[in-house]
Amino acid sequence: MRWTEFFIPTTKEVPKDAVVASHQLMLRAGLIRQLAAGVYAYLPLGYRALRKIENIVREEMNSAGAIELHMPCLQPLELWEQTGRTQAMGDVLLRLAGPAGDWRTQTCLGPTHEENVTEIVKAYVSSYKQLPINLYQIQTKFRGEARPKSGVLRTREFLMKDAYSFDRDKAGLDVSYQKMYDAYCRIYTRCGLPYIAVEAESGPIGGDASHEFMVLTEAGEDYVAMSENGDYAANTERATCAPPRISAAPLTGSGAALSEIHTPGAGRVEDVCKLLGTTPAHMIKTLIYRTATVEATSHRKGAASGPPARVIALVRGDHDINDHKLAKISGLRLELADPRTIEELTGAAVGFAGPQGLFDRLRPGEQLIIDRDVEVMTSAATGANRTDYHVDGVVPGRDFPLESRGESGAAVKVADIRNVVDGDASPTGSGSPLRLRKAIEVGHVFKLGTKYTAKDSLDATFLDADGKPKPFIMGCYGIGLNRIMAAAIESRHDDGGIIWPMSIAPFEALIVALDPRDAQVMSTAAKIHDELAAAGVDVLYDDRDERAGFKFKDADLIGIPLRIVVGRKSLAEGVVEMGRRAGGEAVKLPPSEAVGRATALVRELRG
Ligand code: ATP
Ligand code: MG
Repeated sequence: MRWTEFFIPTTKEVPKDAVVASHQLMLRAGLIRQLAAGVYAYLPLGYRALRKIENIVREEMNSAGAIELHMPCLQPLELWEQTGRTQAMGDVLLRLAGPAGDWRTQTCLGPTHEENVTEIVKAYVSSYKQLPINLYQIQTKFRGEARPKSGVLRTREFLMKDAYSFDRDKAGLDVSYQKMYDAYCRIYTRCGLPYIAVEAESGPIGGDASHEFMVLTEAGEDYVAMSENGDYAANTERATCAPPRISAAPLTGSGAALSEIHTPGAGRVEDVCKLLGTTPAHMIKTLIYRTATVEATSHRKGAASGPPARVIALVRGDHDINDHKLAKISGLRLELADPRTIEELTGAAVGFAGPQGLFDRLRPGEQLIIDRDVEVMTSAATGANRTDYHVDGVVPGRDFPLESRGESGAAVKVADIRNVVDGDASPTGSGSPLRLRKAIEVGHVFKLGTKYTAKDSLDATFLDADGKPKPFIMGCYGIGLNRIMAAAIESRHDDGGIIWPMSIAPFEALIVALDPRDAQVMSTAAKIHDELAAAGVDVLYDDRDERAGFKFKDADLIGIPLRIVVGRKSLAEGVVEMGRRAGGEAVKLPPSEAVGRATALVRELRG
């Protein structure tokens, strides 16, 4: 391909909101063009890279036994209502607007395809003999992301490979899941991504039911907790750590009464610490939750009704509650309680709650949930349940219960309900400290079980060998293709531009003709171009009438892995120069040898 016959609008200008390197470079190299917030066009160079990623994904999915189909972007809203996900998805689900009764009001743009694929499998797969089956597509997704960010890393329209496995039983799902996991590892390796697989939040199934594939980089929005010795890695949404050691020290405050301290207006931990002369690690944060008003599962019959249940959660002052863990331990969908609920329970304004005495005010069915690190505190400062007052000397077990007591219907639970912090010990028992790193999620594999196939969902069943109908056991597996591209650039660039891996580079080789008005230079460069193209190499030929410095700048920016420079001076010596964008010495070789050497190198680096 000749540069002058192609379309590569490189530019120096990038908007201020392009802060991460991949975003800036994709704009500067003319790979993408933003048309609206979170909506991008892929220009020819960007589209070539995207297509290569797509091919790798397709090859690996096919070789893992998944079968490609193509489902629509337009989806019937009815299916989403049946699974209760119109509510669970909220604003992320993009609906069409129209007059009442119009078809548009019954239609949405697909953010994912569990409902649709389940509908298809339900219609055509009726016997265990047809299982397992794994259907996948590479297709455009629409999501009403509140904050599109970092170029194509988070957009409202993007390309996803989504696969869905259907099995007879859990053992079958384990096999399907492992196949996808292995295929994902191959995909990222082939795309040149330095990825890690981490345990991820797995929702209702629990256990090891979900893994995310992450690329560690500051540009990421996720956090991964990794132990220094490499024996543990998990998304911080899920990460846990070794339990705290129980202190052997005597209970310092055990005999002492609680002392109330006047802390006017100090509702935040830091302010209180200043007034009390203590540190957040010696404080207990008391958070009050209530069951959520919008029940994600309210489409199901028998959804909870009656007054909202309250849950008191305790964590150390220097720790933060992890909502996923709290939801799992409580078994409830919770939201932070409104000020009135808090005042009613504590008798004080928001910001002055403490666990002492509160448990007795809970009703049957309500809960006190204590983080493991609070359980082992010997004496703590906390809110006094009196506006503008705190107390010191609160002793867990004495001033509030650590286990459920017979007389009350409310429950006490001690569990890990906090986010891990840097320096926590690995939960494997190795004692290796955890470090928190930012990461981009490039893929997610997930054991769904019967979430979409159960009777109260889409009721999708097959006849098992015993002649009885059983719900399909599902898994789902997603890869963001655009994110792979951005993550690859994020982890492979320098000040000059992109350093593409050969496998997904828009072109594999770039021929730079210096002295473009020299007929011999141009004919030599054109010949190398034609021969490389004939040998099956994706080759771009910079035949523009521009200065050398200008061309080299663009060459660095668009980052084609292999570069052959043809210039008058070196041709006079009977050579051209071949070098790699990734670095290392350029070699001089006769034009006649350039094609053979370049072809061999490209093939080797394709992976
Ligand atoms: P995130 O937590 O980043 O929003 P997600 O958990 O919603 O991602 P999934 O629904 O599991 O993502 O989608 C599968 C894959 O699709 C993700 O791993 C990611 O690579 C990609 N993806 C998801 N949302 C977006 C988006 N808004 N823009 C680009 N890619 C996305
Ligand atoms: Mg999301």
